[in-house]
Amino acid sequence: MKTLTLCLLLGCQTALAQVTVIKAGKLIDPDQGTVAANQIIVIRENKVEAVGASVAIPQGAQVLDLSNMTVLPGLIDCHTHLADGKFGEGDPMFQLKKLASQTVLESVRNARVTLESGFTTVRDLGVYRALNDIALRDAINRGDIIGPRMYVAGAYITITGGAGAMTGMAPDIQLPWDFHYGEANSPWEVRQKIRLLVHDGADHIKVLSSGAVLTHGSNPKSQEFTPEELAAAVDEASHFGLRVAAHAHSPEGIKNAIRAGVASVEHATMIDDEGIALAKQRGTYLDMDIYDEECIQEQGRNGTMPADFLEHDRELGERHRENFRKAVKAGVKLPFGTDAGVCDYGTAGKQFAFMVKYGMTPMQAIQAATSSAADLIGRSDEIGSIKPGKYADVVAVSGDPLQDIHLLENVQFVMKEGKVYKQQSR
Ligand SMILES: [Zn+2]
Repeated sequence: MKTLTLCLLLGCQTALAQVTVIKAGKLIDPDQGTVAANQIIVIRENKVEAVGASVAIPQGAQVLDLSNMTVLPGLIDCHTHLADGKFGEGDPMFQLKKLASQTVLESVRNARVTLESGFTTVRDLGVYRALNDIALRDAINRGDIIGPRMYVAGAYITITGGAGAMTGMAPDIQLPWDFHYGEANSPWEVRQKIRLLVHDGADHIKVLSSGAVLTHGSNPKSQEFTPEELAAAVDEASHFGLRVAAHAHSPEGIKNAIRAGVASVEHATMIDDEGIALAKQRGTYLDMDIYDEECIQEQGRNGTMPADFLEHDRELGERHRENFRKAVKAGVKLPFGTDAGVCDYGTAGKQFAFMVKYGMTPMQAIQAATSSAADLIGRSDEIGSIKPGKYADVVAVSGDPLQDIHLLENVQFVMKEGKVYKQQSR
């Protein structure tokens, strides 16, 4: 009797595992590149248990009727900076006006709006103040705050004064430790920094192979780390089972990183034909954030983007997009990554239309943000498609995103690990 009363009060969650069923009008399978109609998805607790047209609905299951919607796996952004605080302050020098705790508390909103826009997983690629990303990830995992599943870098591994450094101060200004935690200037220093980050709980390593657009005193056309330093990064990270993502704009910076064996090159803005061929041959992902140009130019117009950043960016936008088109044609592996933080958090879905405009089919763009992204992160057994045994990360839109890719800019249903975070009725 006591148990029954408890069951009535608590919905019997302790006695019976929570079972949820989604009725999907259309279900996109990015693994196969196919769409199936009228599918039943059975979810037990946080994992998918069964998927199919004639799957029986378990008795007592909570049924979510999405039979007039297109259902997709939770989206994955392979390049974010969720822990950098409030969006739109343009100059990284603003970071010096805040406490680290202030920055990470501002980032709570970034995590929430990212999840609510349909991105259930992110590969976060560096943070101005080291380890704020780890704090954010862990708070989400504990359930203290709402956000996507985060895989984080912990800090930028960068040369002194390089693309991942906090620059622009007078030489006699001493920065707090967390602004230069990942600075390294030899293969052995690179290894030492990676050992620190592994100990701190990083999920992958981010290195800066060339100069940057959005860093004072940096030249995106330069190369920064040497091939020896990049090879040391890949080797050291591999000792701990971690992959390396390399920021690179310049053709040589890109090729150095690919030859060193990184998992992905970020931006790959000025990649040349040799670089595209190398990426294809080595199976390296090119994570090309081709939507960002819109936001850099917009922030230039409204005066929040520093003049030297705009000068770095000049003429790079269109070149980047045309190189993306070449990479699609060459059959290079291209995940979905937006460098979220350059554009506002929660707007990453706008990149889909650009990926289609510059050569992908809508299905390829969806695969970039699901199955390909999961493969790059090394988690294809857990995320990237709606299959038995994987996390129940599910999004849905009214209409058919294969006909109108813009629909992914306004995802109406979001579930992460079996829990619904957004459900808008039309
Ligand atoms: Zn970035």
